[in-house]
Amino acid sequence: MIGASLSCVVPDASEVSGEPAPDAQLDAVCRTAAALFGVRFAFVSRVDKAYQWFLGREGLSVPGTPREVAFCAHTVLGEPHVPLVVLDTHRDARFRANPLVTGEPFLRFYAGVPIALADGINAATVCIADTDPRAGFGEADRRRLADLALFVEATLRGRASQVEAAQAQRRVEASDTLLRTTLESMDQGLLMTDADDRVRVYNRHVAAMMGVAEALLYDGAPFAAVRAYQTAQGEFAHLPDTLRAWLERGDPAARIYDYERARPDGTVLQVRTLPLPEGGLVRTFTDVTGRRAAEEQIRYMALHDALTGLPNRTLFRDRLDQAIAHASRARSAFAVLACDLDRFKAVNDSLGHPAGDALLRVVAERMRNVLRPYDTIARLGGDEFAIVLAYLDEAREADGIADRLIAAVSEPIDLDGQSVEVGVSIGVTIGTELDQDPDELFQRADIALYEAKAAGRNTHREFEPGAGARIATRGQLALDMKEAIRSREFHLAYQPVVDSATASVVSFEALMRWRHPVQGEIPPGAFIALAEETGLIVPLGAWALQEACREAASWPAPVRVAVNVSVVQLRRAGLEATVMAALAASGLPADRLKLEVTESVLMQDAESVIAGLHRLRALGVRIALDDFGTGYSSLSYLRRFPFDQIKIDRSFIRDIADPDAAAIVRAVVGIGERLGMGIVAEGVETAEQLELVRREGCTQVQGFLFSRPLPPDAARDYLRTAARLDSSERGAFGRGVANRGAPESDGA
Ligand code: C2E
Ligand code: MG
Ligand code: MG
Repeated sequence: MIGASLSCVVPDASEVSGEPAPDAQLDAVCRTAAALFGVRFAFVSRVDKAYQWFLGREGLSVPGTPREVAFCAHTVLGEPHVPLVVLDTHRDARFRANPLVTGEPFLRFYAGVPIALADGINAATVCIADTDPRAGFGEADRRRLADLALFVEATLRGRASQVEAAQAQRRVEASDTLLRTTLESMDQGLLMTDADDRVRVYNRHVAAMMGVAEALLYDGAPFAAVRAYQTAQGEFAHLPDTLRAWLERGDPAARIYDYERARPDGTVLQVRTLPLPEGGLVRTFTDVTGRRAAEEQIRYMALHDALTGLPNRTLFRDRLDQAIAHASRARSAFAVLACDLDRFKAVNDSLGHPAGDALLRVVAERMRNVLRPYDTIARLGGDEFAIVLAYLDEAREADGIADRLIAAVSEPIDLDGQSVEVGVSIGVTIGTELDQDPDELFQRADIALYEAKAAGRNTHREFEPGAGARIATRGQLALDMKEAIRSREFHLAYQPVVDSATASVVSFEALMRWRHPVQGEIPPGAFIALAEETGLIVPLGAWALQEACREAASWPAPVRVAVNVSVVQLRRAGLEATVMAALAASGLPADRLKLEVTESVLMQDAESVIAGLHRLRALGVRIALDDFGTGYSSLSYLRRFPFDQIKIDRSFIRDIADPDAAAIVRAVVGIGERLGMGIVAEGVETAEQLELVRREGCTQVQGFLFSRPLPPDAARDYLRTAARLDSSERGAFGRGVANRGAPESDGA
């Protein structure tokens, strides 16, 4: 349709193009114009690239018309406010053929005024049109139409600025919402105060983080009131003075912009303060407790053993340094204890690592409970522990603590229903204000530990000056052991086992000795465990079998030889072959060889171990269960093993005068009898002990009362001498016999 029009000011992008919404005000203007000029059509329109749209209209039924036919497309090209008047379209070449002229609505008259909007570009029109031509459109009509156009233009501009304001408002609101959403979704607390120290911006978190009531925070709230509230609540009471002055009074002298502070509830806040150019401050509050805890955790892990939670070597060293420093200040004594579990390896190997771990945890806990709050126990690795007794009233105190540690560790440990016993060997060294070197102190404790191990399990030794020269470290010892096998530094000593009724020699137990070129005689307590750990026990044990069988072949039948076999050997394939080779090479009948296995073998649920023992026994070899009563009280397993004998550990024999120990011996004898096993009492040292073990029913006895372990030729002498005595003389039991044998310790 006709067109020219003003593009009215576009309220928003959706109205810039496309069909405009009906506009009652502009329609009313159009109705007035139609009446005023006596025409059928009046309209306000907007012309865009493709279309003319009617913003307000009178007499028109369509919302718009294509730009190429629109009269207003011509009008907008003219001067603003200057009407384009076409009195008769039929006489105007521009419009004669226009489809709006040749067809509906058959326009003959048109007058339109371009109006410019805020940008000054004519994009809208105010027009009138009719189906009858006009003879004239005078100056007064033109002015009237131009005035009307000015009115419409002002209306549209007014509306535009309203829309613009509304848009600006919406933009402000949108960015405000965005800001608020951002503030509220922050993990941090944020608070902005202006130059007058009034709260301007804040988020919800900040109230909780600052420990203030939410009601105190509002736009314009005096920040002094917030501070006063925090102070009254004791929020800052525990903080250092300067920081407190800044937080309580906003003291400009103290002005601390970045700090971390602990809240009374223990949470830790990191606060950053940013001064604003106009004088306000933006504070952000970050809860760094979640991070502090992680840092704390990492620090803890770096200083503690993960398995037991005890301090590790690093922390131990630190505590030792502290003890040294304290001793030199206070001129007091302290002690360093080096501890190593006895027979831990057997548990770990037989019950598996989870059980071994559980055992270490129990042991760690027990030892910790023995110590005083200011002592330190550390796990150095494996089954090694170290202790600093931070302060001693007198040196003897360390002995008492070591005794209690041993007692605590030795109590049976329940591992998932399995009762297990381990021991601990402890080396002790006393430090004084003269001791400044932690390494030396630890080395002294280690040397004493070595002495304790050598003395037998579950005992402690105090460092003696001079011992260090004799004793190498365990690491060195392991290296030396390899060499010792090659250079034949090992030898065997033989200790008689006698019949408790007739006192005749039934067998000798072969006990290994190490004659170290530098350190002299090393007892098996000091090297067997190490040999087991390194696997050297396998060749060493094979050698002992060969050697013992060879020696025993020279003894009169039926004297047997007993050889100790480690669980490590039992678990490896090849023990049977080794035994058969030793028997074959020596010509010793199988039934004169006895293998002694320690109680830890009972922990072996491996069928192969049990089957191997059964096969050995089928060859005629005897099997004895050694050190009974010290380890695993899994008596129910006894039945599955082919034992000929049970050797009751010497700790029970030592205490046999005690009714409890006697009762245990009696019970073991009972079990042995039921299962058809003979009972050997180990470690009989006195005639009284002998009398008691006999009375309890032990069939054989072994101990210093009869003889210490002897070198081979002394053992042979012992046999000869014993054979010459008749049974009544033997009945005097040993005293004379024992004295006739040259003890290996003296003779070797
Ligand atoms: P065991 O098999 O129980 O050997 C008996 C230990 O008790 C020996 O210690 C012996 O000297 C000691 N003994 C005997 N009678 C008495 C006594 O009346 N009083 C005291 N206080 N002690 C007595 P030894 O020779 O030091 O051997 C310690 C352990 O080393 C042995 O205990 C055994 O478990 C192990 N062992 C020794 N030789 C070998 C070996 O060739 N192979 C393996 N695997 N272990 C061995
Ligand atoms: Mg033995
Ligand atoms: Mg024994």
